[in-house]
Amino acid sequence: MSDATAIPFFSGAASARRDRTRLEAMVRQVAASGRFTSGPVTAELEAAIAARTGARHAVAVANGTDALVILLRAAGIGPGDEVIVPAYTFFATASCVLHVGAEPVLVDVLPGSYAMDPARAEAAITERTKAIMPVHLFSQMADMEALKDLADRHGLLLLEDSAEGIDMRAGGVHAGLWGSGGVLSFFPTKTLGSLGDAGMLLTDDDDIAASARRLRLHGQGTDGAYDTDGAYVYQEIGYNSRCDELQSAFLLHRLERLGDEIGRRAELAARYDRLLAPLAGTVTTPWMAPAKTPSNQVYYVYLIECDRRDELAAYLEANGVGTEAYYPRPLTQQPLLAPLPGSRHPVPVSDASARRALALPLYPDLTDEQADRVAALVHAFYGAAS
Ligand SMILES: *Cc1c(COP(=O)(O)O)cnc(C)c1O
Repeated sequence: MSDATAIPFFSGAASARRDRTRLEAMVRQVAASGRFTSGPVTAELEAAIAARTGARHAVAVANGTDALVILLRAAGIGPGDEVIVPAYTFFATASCVLHVGAEPVLVDVLPGSYAMDPARAEAAITERTKAIMPVHLFSQMADMEALKDLADRHGLLLLEDSAEGIDMRAGGVHAGLWGSGGVLSFFPTKTLGSLGDAGMLLTDDDDIAASARRLRLHGQGTDGAYDTDGAYVYQEIGYNSRCDELQSAFLLHRLERLGDEIGRRAELAARYDRLLAPLAGTVTTPWMAPAKTPSNQVYYVYLIECDRRDELAAYLEANGVGTEAYYPRPLTQQPLLAPLPGSRHPVPVSDASARRALALPLYPDLTDEQADRVAALVHAFYGAAS
C-alpha cells in the first residue's frame, strides 16, 4: 500500500495546504507585532470563545491539561480532598487531581455514553469528597441533569473535564458551564485544534476566573496581565502556562469554519453508521442519547465497539488505515493509579469498553471515498473471519 492511499487516524494537512496563504500571513503578522504570548490576539480568542460558549470568563492557557490543574486549584481543591472522576477517560483527568495534592476516586461509566454513572458516583461519596468531575467523551455530554442534582444534594463542587466538548451543549448549556467550571483543549486532533498546543478554562465564577488568570502567570498580579499594578508581585504559587499568539491566531481562523467542520463530521459519522449497519452484532456503532438541543452532540471521535478489536486494528493498520483504541485500559489499571485507594471500586463497564472500543478516522479532511474504504476494510476483516 503506497503512502498516497494511506488513511491516517488524523490529518489536517489538506486544510493546511489549502489555507497556506492565510496561515503564512498570520505568521508574518504575529512576527511583525513583536508580541508572541498572552497578547491582544489571545484576548480576542478568549472573547470569541466566551461569546460562542456563553461563558462569562474564558481564560487561555498553554494546553488542556494545565487548564484542568488550574481549574482545580482555582476551585480550591487540594490536599485531603477527594475528587470523583470516571475510570474511563484520558490519564490527565486523574493526574490533574494528583497534581493539586488531592485524591482521584475512580468510578464506572454508563454504557453507550462512556460518561460517569451518577449512581456509582453517589455510592463513592465520603466525608472527604469535595467535587465530582465528569468527562464528556467522543461525541456527547454526560448526564448533566443527574450529575448536577447529585452535586447539589451533597453540597459538592461540580467541575467538568470538557476538554473534548467544544460546541457540545445539554439543555442549552455549553459543556463546562453546568457547575463551577470546565476546560477546552485545542490539541491538534481535537474538534477545534491549533497547530500545536493550547487550552482554555471556562467559568461563570468571577473568583475562579481571577485566580486562574493569576495562576497561569506564576500567581502574579491582580489579574495576571503583565502591565497591571500587580506585576512582579505574586499572590500564590502558580504555573507558567501562557498561550501563544500564533496559536490564538490559528484558532480564530479555525473558529470561522468550526460550524461547517462539525457538520462534515456528522455527515461522515452518518456514513459510517450506514455502511457498518450490516455488521450489527459484531460491530456496535456509536449510541447517542436523544439530543436535547441541536448542538448537544459533536462527533469529535467516532468510536465503535467490536469483537477481536486488536486484530481488527492490526488488519486496518496493515492496509494503511490508522485507528486508536480509546482507551485500551481503564484508569484503575494504570500502574501509577491502581495501588491508590481511589481505584478500589469495580468498573465492569470500563473494563469491557477498554477491550472492545476502537476509534475510526473521522476529521473534516477525510473524504467520502476514504470513509468508504475504511468501512469496506472492516467488512472484509469480518467477512474473511466468518
Ligand atoms: C485532550 C484531553 C485532555 C488534555 O488536553 P491537552 O490539551 O492535550 O493537554 C484532557 N482530558 C481529556 C478528556 C482530553 O480528551
